[in-house]
Amino acid sequence: MSIRYDIVFLGYGVSSLITLYKNISKFKDKKILVLEKGPEVDIGKNICGFWQESDLPMTHKWERYFFKLDGDEQAPYSHYYGKLDFEKMDHLIKENLQIDLRFNSQYVEFTNDANGFCIKTVEDIFQGTELYDSTPLQRVADSLKQNFLGHELEFEVPHEVKFPVIMDLERFDEASNDLFFYYLLPLSSTRLLIEATTYSLNNLDEECLARAINKYVECHFSKKNFSFTKSERGSLQLLKVYNRNQIDGYYPIGVRAGMMRAATGYSAAMVDLNQNYGKLWGGVLWILDRLLLKVMIVDPIDKNILFKKFTSRMGPREFASFMSPSPSLSSLLCAIKTMPKMVFVKNLFTNCKSRITYEVP
Ligand SMILES: Cc1cc2nc3c(=O)[nH]c(=O)nc-3n(C[C@H](O)[C@H](O)[C@H](O)COP(=O)(O)OP(=O)(O)OC[C@H]3O[C@@H](n4cnc5c(N)ncnc54)[C@H](O)[C@@H]3O)c2cc1C
Repeated sequence: MSIRYDIVFLGYGVSSLITLYKNISKFKDKKILVLEKGPEVDIGKNICGFWQESDLPMTHKWERYFFKLDGDEQAPYSHYYGKLDFEKMDHLIKENLQIDLRFNSQYVEFTNDANGFCIKTVEDIFQGTELYDSTPLQRVADSLKQNFLGHELEFEVPHEVKFPVIMDLERFDEASNDLFFYYLLPLSSTRLLIEATTYSLNNLDEECLARAINKYVECHFSKKNFSFTKSERGSLQLLKVYNRNQIDGYYPIGVRAGMMRAATGYSAAMVDLNQNYGKLWGGVLWILDRLLLKVMIVDPIDKNILFKKFTSRMGPREFASFMSPSPSLSSLLCAIKTMPKMVFVKNLFTNCKSRITYEVP
């Protein structure tokens, strides 16, 4: 006979951890099952975002950060940049909830009827009343992707990068129309994460990004002794997700719930998306994201112009607010004002719905 739970989580990644952590008091008396196909929780993930206030624990908080768009632009004050503390979240979840955490458990499918959900893994069957699903979406042909590769460097002496550099548009000489930038995260005075990112229709080209990182390191840090300690990589599809068929008790979360802010790839910060936006501004943001995504897909050359103009005209302060889970009204209006209108008008009537949207069956 299969075991019955009040709540079942599919996946124990970023959105499951955040959802469980945020609902500790609500889920306190519930019997919870988590099915994760991986062998363990990845508590060392470098997941950051812009925050004004947040009840999520952070390992690091930086009051200042740079956008190297047209020279050095520093973004201060209204929003800090923070790295989420998954170790603490994982610890508090385990300490406070009745949770049955099963690793190496790959979910295959679920069915539902009046009694709730029947969830099949490769080896077992479970019953649940509510289901939170963060398993990934299938790949969409020709979608725009944010591809990135990051290397962590351990220096023998302090590296002198005091604040994160969110976007360094330093040139990278590969023959490509892809938008490209570097990202630096000072994890301590001797530890530094250097990431190279592209927005591309192509899949992750790890060798190409590794060459870019090596070039950057050679240029900026060659006089220091360091070793490469760890690397991280990813290819995120930039899509607007629709869940048309609502099933009672079924909650898609994370990327599956559409929490992928088009053109950023930063979605961890958006777990609160639906709570933070009212219908009106949520709608405005939805239209902006879709338009931006459309231009980036159909017009690779204009994509670069648009991105650079948009980010540098907006200025670091408004841009940080725009990218946060709770953008201010002024940052939304600023985004609308600063967008290069002609680029949008040119692409307004191009139909590429199938490449920018994902409809969950
Ligand atoms: C290197 C890297 C750096 C990033 N940096 C940032 C950042 O700074 N800020 C930010 O906001 N975002 C960042 N992102 C994006 C962020 O990681 C994702 O947006 C976020 O992880 C999405 O959360 P999720 O819960 O939807 O998916 P995930 O975190 O991927 O969680 C899904 C989980 O489901 C599990 N799973 C999959 N299939 C099954 C199955 N069949 N059965 C059981 N379990 C399954 C997976 O193993 C995984 O643990 C980064 C991504 C990468 C790769």
